[in-house]
Amino acid sequence: MELTPFARERNVAIAAVREAARLCRAVQAEMAPDVLQKKDRSPVTVADFGSQALVCRKIRTAFPDDPIMAEEDAAALRSPENAALAEQVAHYVQQLRPAEDEMVLSWIDAGNLDEQRDRFWTLDPIDGTKGFLRGEQYAVALALIEDGEPVVAAVACPNLPEQLDVPGGGTVFAAIKGQGTFQFPIDGNGHGDAVQVSATSDTAEARFCESFVSAHSSHDDAASVAERLGITKDPVRIDSQAKYALVARGDADIYLRLPTGGGYVEKIWDHAAGSLVVQEAGGTVTDIHGKPLAFRYGRTLAQNTGIIVTNGMVHAEVLDALHAVGVA
Ligand code: AMP
Ligand code: MG
Repeated sequence: MELTPFARERNVAIAAVREAARLCRAVQAEMAPDVLQKKDRSPVTVADFGSQALVCRKIRTAFPDDPIMAEEDAAALRSPENAALAEQVAHYVQQLRPAEDEMVLSWIDAGNLDEQRDRFWTLDPIDGTKGFLRGEQYAVALALIEDGEPVVAAVACPNLPEQLDVPGGGTVFAAIKGQGTFQFPIDGNGHGDAVQVSATSDTAEARFCESFVSAHSSHDDAASVAERLGITKDPVRIDSQAKYALVARGDADIYLRLPTGGGYVEKIWDHAAGSLVVQEAGGTVTDIHGKPLAFRYGRTLAQNTGIIVTNGMVHAEVLDALHAVGVA
């Protein structure tokens, strides 16, 4: 039987984010309850590097010629003052993939692509680090980009139930350009279920989501936009690309990511996988001016400002509202 285009890439990507999610869960399970109070970031740092090592290893093995642009870099781990941290990272990785310590560092280094290529992968090993520390939403997000467009995506959301009201689980969302979006149980082998955006066309009925962290997206401007649209439901505030997943499967109709004024430029690994997951579920993703996200300028979305994600039906209205309240 002939495989459909990118089927192998997608299967490798799903396996990679699943394995990384296992490591993240293992780190989280052993996190001391007082970590959050102490503002100790070391657990998330261990999980971040460990996740990147596992994902890069998997891609390197399956697609040896593909470069990877990942968020982290192992240079700091190699310095003597970080020996204890490097030891921890190796410990968690070796539980899943036995290897010499140096090999673990070399896997992390495999994510060091810095500039644009015709074909490359982009990885956020833990998106939503603050959510991870709170024990709430975070994601492992991996995408393959060809000619400036995401063509394969896998997003593992270890704390997102398959159905919002049914606790437990953990979900992987996967998409191939032109072939739809599917969700899978994070630790099963089950067949995926196709997911679809909502059919909400009346913005007064809409639910929107935004960053939990107000420094990442203006909650005040979002409230003005929501008021203009007649939205009455409270916003869903969660960390990570789990927000894209909520729109993709119709749990939310809109995701607003509005600039906070500091001139921040979005990173591609925060949006490549999530945006394909939404588009293949029937939704629309642009910046606040209605421009498509441009994944052809290296590590950042240098040509875009903010991010607007909708079920498609309400997109034009949301862009108009942004304009009307002076955000765009
Ligand atoms: P979220 O979970 O939606 O709050 O987004 C987390 C991501 O926000 C992180 O991966 C960072 O790369 C990114 N980020 C950091 N600073 C900013 C900022 N000032 N504006 C928007 N995003 C940011
Ligand atoms: Mg991130």
